[in-house]
Amino acid sequence: MTTPAELATIAEQVGAWLDESWSVDLTVREWWQRLADSGWGFPTWPTEWYGRGLGGDALTVVSRVFQERGVLGAPSGLGQTMGGPVVLQHGDDEQRRRLVPPLVSGTEGWCQFFSEPGAGSDLAGAQTRAVRDGDEWVVNGQKVWTSGALTTERGMLLARTDIDAPKHKGLGYFIIDVHQPGIEIRPLKQMTGASHFNEVFFTDARVAHANLIGRPGDGWAAATTTLAYERGGRAGTVGVAGASGGSLRGVLDRRAGDVIDEVLAERRAAASEAVDARNPGISGPNSPLTYVKDFGRNGEPGVRQRVVQYYVLSRVNALNQQRVRAEAAGGKSPGPASSTTKLARSVATRVNRDLGPHILGPHAMLAGEEAPLHGAVCHSTVQAPSTSIAGGTDEVQRNIIGERVLGLPREPDVDRDTPFRELKVGTQRSAP
Ligand SMILES: Cc1cc2nc3c(=O)[nH]c(=O)nc-3n(C[C@H](O)[C@H](O)[C@H](O)COP(=O)(O)OP(=O)(O)OC[C@H]3O[C@@H](n4cnc5c(N)ncnc54)[C@H](O)[C@@H]3O)c2cc1C
Repeated sequence: MTTPAELATIAEQVGAWLDESWSVDLTVREWWQRLADSGWGFPTWPTEWYGRGLGGDALTVVSRVFQERGVLGAPSGLGQTMGGPVVLQHGDDEQRRRLVPPLVSGTEGWCQFFSEPGAGSDLAGAQTRAVRDGDEWVVNGQKVWTSGALTTERGMLLARTDIDAPKHKGLGYFIIDVHQPGIEIRPLKQMTGASHFNEVFFTDARVAHANLIGRPGDGWAAATTTLAYERGGRAGTVGVAGASGGSLRGVLDRRAGDVIDEVLAERRAAASEAVDARNPGISGPNSPLTYVKDFGRNGEPGVRQRVVQYYVLSRVNALNQQRVRAEAAGGKSPGPASSTTKLARSVATRVNRDLGPHILGPHAMLAGEEAPLHGAVCHSTVQAPSTSIAGGTDEVQRNIIGERVLGLPREPDVDRDTPFRELKVGTQRSAP
């Protein structure tokens, strides 16, 4: 843990550096490069790899200084928050030198090719195959739910390299180029109307052996590190990045001041916080804490009770998340405790999902710009289920907490030592 005096020094240091370095007239590309060179963009990463080796509690302080000054944060996406730390922990120096710079400078975004039609909760049952061919691997199979596949340059791919090994021991973890002839991406439409994720088909797609992270068969370790970051310990970036929704490359040549203005305006605008039901806010115009007053329901004891319940859940989880991050100091994986924050986020999201319609009544069914709160409550309601599924379902988080945090007996696991080719997993009916 960093002492309060050390945290105060860190806040002074980052403030002084921002005084010298930040300018709204830089391009985003220039700014992100400065951030990368300084180590302040990814302060929990090791000092030799674009960071400052600080703990998660220091990250919170650095983020606060960025936000107070309205400074554009580091590039943010799955590559930066999950992939980079995985390469740092499981890759070799050559891979760190080659794969990490495009992430910290925002010239690349990565997506996550993990889930398959027959392998979600049972991710180790992935059937997508990677077969060695000289200096490359040839990939065949199907992924699904791949967020952002159309707007990213590379993907973190979990694929089976050995079908004779037990399922956890025959997987490889690759960083694959997304835009190549062997990869077809088909957007999936969600009930919110958006197409946030895709199904992705690999037909003789190619990935260099040099992009295999760890040894063939060791991919499960890198996959669990990725998931720990996804569930609660995203400790890479700071500030008000906000540029992660679309293509990072799309903002590189814009003026940093214009991008940050947009980010801040979006936050202020009606559809800011509550539109992202995966992270419902506790302040801002779309928070139930705000609109319960606007709709004149804050005098009702039953409503107040639920609003406070939502507030307490959200605040406690924010603090818990800070603790998980602090434990993941110096670029270490956040570990299984991140499942507690993921699960708590699901609970808070469901409370918010029910609270909005309770306060707005039938108006909560209205979608679109002309609806109350620009349709944010309706959007939150239909978006809410995703929080309990993305990054591993609530049931899976409970299993992890039970087994790996509380030390309870493991779930029965009869196929752990069986060669993968003998299993009837996913859509596999006979030996592939
Ligand atoms: C918004 C969103 C974005 C996503 N983005 C990505 C992405 O970018 N990349 C990616 O690879 N994936 C992504 N996913 C996929 C996500 O990781 C999977 O949906 C999730 O792991 C569940 O897998 P599944 O859908 O196959 O459900 P299944 O595994 O088939 O589960 C079905 C049900 O069975 C329950 N269940 C399964 N096993 C157990 C068990 N052992 N004990 C108790 N209950 C169990 C589950 O909890 C669930 O309720 C995303 C999902 C969502 C919702």
